[in-house]
Amino acid sequence: MNFVFPPRTPAVVPVAGRNDFFPVHRIYCVGRNYVEHAKEMGGTGREAPFFFMKPADAVLAVPHGAVGEMPYPPMTNDLHHEIELVVAIGKDGKNISAADARQHVWGYAVGLDMTRRDLQGDAKKAGRPWSTGKGFDYSAPIAPIHPMHDTGWITQGAIHLNVNGASRQKSDISKLIWNVAETIEHLSTYFTLQAGDLIFTGTPEGVAAVKSGDVLEGGIAGLGEMRVKIV
Ligand code: MN
Repeated sequence: MNFVFPPRTPAVVPVAGRNDFFPVHRIYCVGRNYVEHAKEMGGTGREAPFFFMKPADAVLAVPHGAVGEMPYPPMTNDLHHEIELVVAIGKDGKNISAADARQHVWGYAVGLDMTRRDLQGDAKKAGRPWSTGKGFDYSAPIAPIHPMHDTGWITQGAIHLNVNGASRQKSDISKLIWNVAETIEHLSTYFTLQAGDLIFTGTPEGVAAVKSGDVLEGGIAGLGEMRVKIV
């Protein structure tokens, strides 16, 4: 096959504890998946799950022990952090039942769904898409992916985010409104999931703005910590 220019190498995320890399296919995100965050965003906390996407190359892979550097994005004055459990899909499928969901999970990671909240808010008011608010360059910092083989099936565990050492978000994975299995069930009715897909499962309450120079430290029990500096 003759390409008109060389195809780009895929976005990748390192695998924890191995010299392997997880090639990223698509990035799906769940909106409002913790009750208290749904309320702080103006919802009731009782709605059906809804989804948005980021481009695969929005990932900013942060190696173990490193401090990732995220450029402060253009066109915003209100960059928000959202700490999230990320599910890495390892097997294709559509119309996957919650009971079968774990067969499609390859692993888990700590991730940040960074958000230009002012652009997202403008889009909501105007009934426009969220792409500029959510799908921008470097908007998906992510720590190494832990194989489910090592972690087991995750249904609970503390999730937290500190900014410059101060606690901003603190909750537990068990508080997800739609758990990982249910999320995969719903999402796979809309899209054929493919090996390489990442699912950002939603953020707990406490989202707030960050500025250049801030250091974000996020973690999930069993998946370690991730540090990102806004530069
Ligand atoms: Mn989010």
